[in-house]
Amino acid sequence: MRTLPLILLTVGLTLAADEHPAPAPKAKTTAKVASAPPAHAAAPTEAGPATPKAALAELSAGNDRFVAGKRTRTLDTGHDAAMRAALVKGQAPFAVVITCSDSRVPDALLFDQEAGRLFTIREAGNAPDLQGLASAEYAVEHLGSKVIVVMGHTSCGAVKAVREANGKPLPGNLWALQAGMTGLLESTPQDPNEDAAAHIAHLETANARRQAQTLLDRSPLLRDLAAAEKLSVVPALYNLASGKVQFFKAVAVAVSAPEAHH
Ligand SMILES: [Zn+2]
Repeated sequence: MRTLPLILLTVGLTLAADEHPAPAPKAKTTAKVASAPPAHAAAPTEAGPATPKAALAELSAGNDRFVAGKRTRTLDTGHDAAMRAALVKGQAPFAVVITCSDSRVPDALLFDQEAGRLFTIREAGNAPDLQGLASAEYAVEHLGSKVIVVMGHTSCGAVKAVREANGKPLPGNLWALQAGMTGLLESTPQDPNEDAAAHIAHLETANARRQAQTLLDRSPLLRDLAAAEKLSVVPALYNLASGKVQFFKAVAVAVSAPEAHH
């Protein structure tokens, strides 16, 4: 029963080359069939969800397992060598996670996804710079990721610092955090009825939403895929205390092509 038929790596299979011409060499991500299946029942070579909806559902289900203390995929520590052996052949992460560098946001654990399943980009304040954007494009275009989750978190020091600086440049290179959140404070002023903590919480959510929108605004590649419903970009907020990820509505993309409506 442990000799599973083997499952192939679906690397690179998901995007038709003629739809999205890929300028970069694809050699390293070309699909390969694992010829010698590792003899175990874990799923390091299991194909990920094939649609944005299914990908988001899997992240949500994984987070539910984490919150309930019932992780499954990240508890299988007895097969690490087999997992590495399978993954060395290629990767097909079904989701991109753009989140803060905060050490209390354990991306793989909180979605209960083992190596090879998530393509994670981490920068303080989950405000991806150009390199972060390029990383997201690479994952989606070359590795076939179906969903990008832009995830802020509660008690975010980066958001708090930007709020407290209130436009005054932070020291060193920290000004880049402020640049990454340009317009956040103006878009989300403190309500007279909310205290500082409530305002920060408000900003954390607003920042995740704005960063998700900015991602699509800055990337025609991601925008086209989202418009074709091959990709979802979803803002989210991770609660440090409960472990729960709150997913917000996916960023809407205006479909410009009139022939999209038959
Ligand atoms: Zn943070």
